[in-house]
Amino acid sequence: MNESESRRPCLRCLLSEIDEEAYRKNILRVTELMKASEKASDQVKERRLAACRVCDYLESGTCRACGCYVELRAALKGGRCPYKKWN
Ligand code: SF4
Repeated sequence: MNESESRRPCLRCLLSEIDEEAYRKNILRVTELMKASEKASDQVKERRLAACRVCDYLESGTCRACGCYVELRAALKGGRCPYKKWN
């Protein structure tokens, strides 16, 4: 294995390096690419995100309890909150 193959892929940027517009577009794009059968209804997604908005674990769009991007998790039909604040 050469050096470039052994490097860990970059999973996340430091907050100081995040391009918020690019981040928002990426989340939106991934959500749009989900199959309809995988998506929660808009009503369910908004109810879930309302719980995230008032949760102490929410930080910059990420859940500090599990590390997920909450807008992606909330958009999935089978998404779950690690602390059962929504299902
Ligand atoms: S997924 Fe659950 S624990 Fe994480 S930010 Fe949302 S409500 Fe909070």
